[in-house]
Amino acid sequence: MGNVIVVGSGISGMTAAIRCAGQGVKVTLISPFPSERSQSVMAAGGINAVLRDCDPGDSVACHVEDTLKGGSYLAGSKAVTGLCENAENIIEYLEKLGTVFSIDKSGKLIRRSFGGQSYRRTYYCGSSTGKQIVSALVMEARRLEAAGMIERRLWSCFHSALIRDGVCYGVLIYDESTQGLEALYGDSVIIATGGQNSLFGKTTGSTQCDGYVAGKLFMQGAELKNLEFIQYHPTTIDIFQKRMLISEAVRGEGGRLFYEESGKKVYFMEEKFGAKGNLVTRDIMSRSIYETGRDVYLDISFMNKERINEKIPEVRDLCLKYRGIDISKEPIPVAPCVHFFMGGLAVHMNHETNIRSLYAIGECASMYHGANRLGGNSLLSAIYSGMVAADDISKNPKPKEDIDFSLEIEEEKEKLKQQMETRSKFPVMYIRDMLAETMNKSMGIVRTEAELDKGLSKIDYYLSIAEKLRYDNSVLAYFNYSLVGILNIAKASVFSAKARKESRGAHYRSDYPDSKDADAYASIISYNNGDFKIRLDKEKIYES
Ligand SMILES: Cc1cc2nc3c(=O)[nH]c(=O)nc-3n(C[C@H](O)[C@H](O)[C@H](O)COP(=O)(O)OP(=O)(O)OC[C@H]3O[C@@H](n4cnc5c(N)ncnc54)[C@H](O)[C@@H]3O)c2cc1C
Repeated sequence: MGNVIVVGSGISGMTAAIRCAGQGVKVTLISPFPSERSQSVMAAGGINAVLRDCDPGDSVACHVEDTLKGGSYLAGSKAVTGLCENAENIIEYLEKLGTVFSIDKSGKLIRRSFGGQSYRRTYYCGSSTGKQIVSALVMEARRLEAAGMIERRLWSCFHSALIRDGVCYGVLIYDESTQGLEALYGDSVIIATGGQNSLFGKTTGSTQCDGYVAGKLFMQGAELKNLEFIQYHPTTIDIFQKRMLISEAVRGEGGRLFYEESGKKVYFMEEKFGAKGNLVTRDIMSRSIYETGRDVYLDISFMNKERINEKIPEVRDLCLKYRGIDISKEPIPVAPCVHFFMGGLAVHMNHETNIRSLYAIGECASMYHGANRLGGNSLLSAIYSGMVAADDISKNPKPKEDIDFSLEIEEEKEKLKQQMETRSKFPVMYIRDMLAETMNKSMGIVRTEAELDKGLSKIDYYLSIAEKLRYDNSVLAYFNYSLVGILNIAKASVFSAKARKESRGAHYRSDYPDSKDADAYASIISYNNGDFKIRLDKEKIYES
């Protein structure tokens, strides 16, 4: 039987919770907001799989090779093979739960092309793939909740893990509804808290994804991997507080990038990479746009209105509603923006971290995407990693003896109380804004030693004042106590980017523009009382 605490209720956390509960492990699922508001619901484009009726010539082996190649051969082939081999079962599983994939007139699932893939293998649910999957998972979680196997706790934010001698015994959470810290004990803990978008301010993702949990666990001894690999999505559009994604589906349907020179359209991606130039991987496309140094547009106006309405209605609506652009007549102004994090908590094949009984899944873990992720592979890996962790926990129960954490818990309560009473000039949220500016400058599409050094010294300064900042009553308590963890994961990312003196996938250094095969290893970063240590994973401890 046993019990598990799942932190985060996006697609990966929900999958793990359902799978554990289905195998008799009791689950406490915590998150500040309901699953329906997780970043997972934003996924529109689709999920990759090679099904029985795939394009002629396509195969699971080809999906594996595209994924490894797209990630500049930094991901482990055994892990990626497991991911791709299980994709068909995952689609079947999602359909059984009630996910409604788009079908053609004969009732067959429709697939589309995504960048970096040799064949069409991205399946989708109209323009709301993530939403549909989340809805299906929520229904299943409710069934298991009624059966007493899952307890869903909202308004609960991770504070820290209860760790002793390299073993995790549970978590300390901050309950925003009661405004207090509470200890939850579990045989295992699964972290499913998504990426680190809000380190960068305005991105395509959710502000709930701030990297705090990974940053705090790093400070508590968990190792982080490949943090320098941050995916910029090449085609995003500025809308109020966000950059909205113009899905890769637009280019999959034939959309073409261009800029204007002397009144003429220059289709620079096709000039550079040939007929498939608009479907190269995201790292290459983002860099190519950056290198033009010009305003770039995405043109889909050659597509007739019926096809636009059928294939990309969400892009039509988004552009019209928020920017007044009719995409059947006008091009869309696009620019690259931070979108996805290939790096995160380092995990073994079973998704356990270097801390026993502490697992990480979904976007907060680093495993399948190497130096660059292929579109459509993230939903797949969020679900697959949730299944792998749940199966490991169900098969290898780790009952725990009672350990007394009361001293640590009292210390944390006291610290929080003191922070609430701090009255310095600057509020916590001020530094979050400064950090976003720093991260965008030093961790951009093109990086240099000088900018990385500047970034590091600024973050060190923010860290030096973080504990003395004024508590900000206008935001949740979480935003206050999370600052130091966030600064540490930000510093670890810049530190990793400085240490990798080569260019690979999404990590491009203009001062080291070539890839060095000798450095085709994951970078692992660890923390010891404020000291950061980095090493290349030559023994492939975290990959097979
Ligand atoms: C606009 C957009 C479009 C995308 N489209 C696609 C696509 O078409 N195909 C594809 O494969 N991928 C796509 N992706 C990527 C994909 O959606 C994500 O990688 C994936 O959904 C991540 O799932 P997750 O479960 O790991 O995390 P999330 O869905 O981000 O969930 C994280 C959970 O953790 C919780 N949480 C965060 N911090 C804390 C804390 N401190 N304490 C407690 N809980 C916390 C959150 O509330 C949330 O419940 C897209 C991403 C974006 C932003």
